[in-house]
Amino acid sequence: MIKLEKIRKAYKADNEWIPVLKNIDLEVHKGDFLAIMGPSGSGKSTLLNLIGFVDRKYLGNYYLENEIITSKSDNDLSKLRNQRVGFVFQQFNLIETLTIRENVELPLLYDGWNYRQTKKRVDELLEKLGIGDKGNKLPKQLSGGQQQRAAIARAIINNPDFIIADEPTGALDTKTSNDIMNVFKQLNQEEGVTIILVTHDPETVQFCNRVVHMHDGKLNEKAR
Ligand code: ADP
Ligand code: MG
Repeated sequence: MIKLEKIRKAYKADNEWIPVLKNIDLEVHKGDFLAIMGPSGSGKSTLLNLIGFVDRKYLGNYYLENEIITSKSDNDLSKLRNQRVGFVFQQFNLIETLTIRENVELPLLYDGWNYRQTKKRVDELLEKLGIGDKGNKLPKQLSGGQQQRAAIARAIINNPDFIIADEPTGALDTKTSNDIMNVFKQLNQEEGVTIILVTHDPETVQFCNRVVHMHDGKLNEKAR
């Protein structure tokens, strides 16, 4: 589904270009649950931004279902971002002034869903993710684990091709981390949702079906 070929990227600091991604080759297949591990600063979030159509400043080729993404316009890229990928973050990134329901339905605003369809879809998802009674609460009225469940609902509500999760359990205790990883695993196994997950935590890797290691801007796939 996703194919990266010889991806290179550098950041400019003090008039010097610092390479951050060094000839990355990666294929992600439909239904993969891929973990990307590696030390802080090794380039994991930079790689996720590029895969998630947030960043277009890199060299090399990016194909999504055999379509070349590399030279798309900003406008096309933001369409891809809104329609083809869902994001989950360490700090949940819910909008504090909106209810859980309003947060979760945000991605549908771009797709012209009507009120009834939207309400039905949100109700189903909140129920499935175990927060069926939280729709009218504000994020701060929920625990961290519940907020992350809401963020996952928001990420999958418009059936994206894949989910990108950047250290989604980094702010959670061990028990809650395992609960959230089980949510991802269930979505992956029962609904075939493709997941690309960055984690520091070796415990969470056991939920995934592939793991790659990033070190100093390079990727290595390990047999497990
Ligand atoms: P990781 O997610 O693995 O911790 P990042 O992708 O966030 O790593 O960062 C990789 C490297 O790129 C780090 O050295 C970081 O300081 C640098 N970096 C990240 N974002 C920027 C930026 N916007 N400008 C300059 N340097 C950056
Ligand atoms: Mg990071």
